[in-house]
Amino acid sequence: MVNQRTAHWKILSRFYLLCLPFGIVFTVIFSAFALPFLLAFGTTLFLYWQFTRFVTNSVVKHYMPETYDQMQKVGCDPFYNSLGAPLNFDSDGVRIFGSEPNANCPLCFQLMLLEEGTTGVCGNCGSTVSFIGKRVELVSLM
Ligand SMILES: [Zn+2]
Repeated sequence: MVNQRTAHWKILSRFYLLCLPFGIVFTVIFSAFALPFLLAFGTTLFLYWQFTRFVTNSVVKHYMPETYDQMQKVGCDPFYNSLGAPLNFDSDGVRIFGSEPNANCPLCFQLMLLEEGTTGVCGNCGSTVSFIGKRVELVSLM
């Protein structure tokens, strides 16, 4: 499927690429200790990344537990979803649904992700919606 959520390893790789110039400059400055410095630099970046992710996810889990549970249920990571360009270029729809939404609720126009030939429940108004024959129709109200 097109426009899937960006993989976590790609976002982390972009972070390393952004920090690479600093690593190169400091490696040149401390050239006598280049290898240990590069290892320490890479490890520090990784630990910083994991610490920031832990704090972000903990804050979301503490202050918005229902939202956190819903995000976990759909495979959404609050930290990676909070990152913007140039680390994460995903659209809002991809961040929420995991891929680009393909339908709107006929009642409240909430964006939805439905597979052809299935029914789904609107996350906003709770009405049941069917997506059959390229048409989105209201099946029942909440
Ligand atoms: Zn709706």
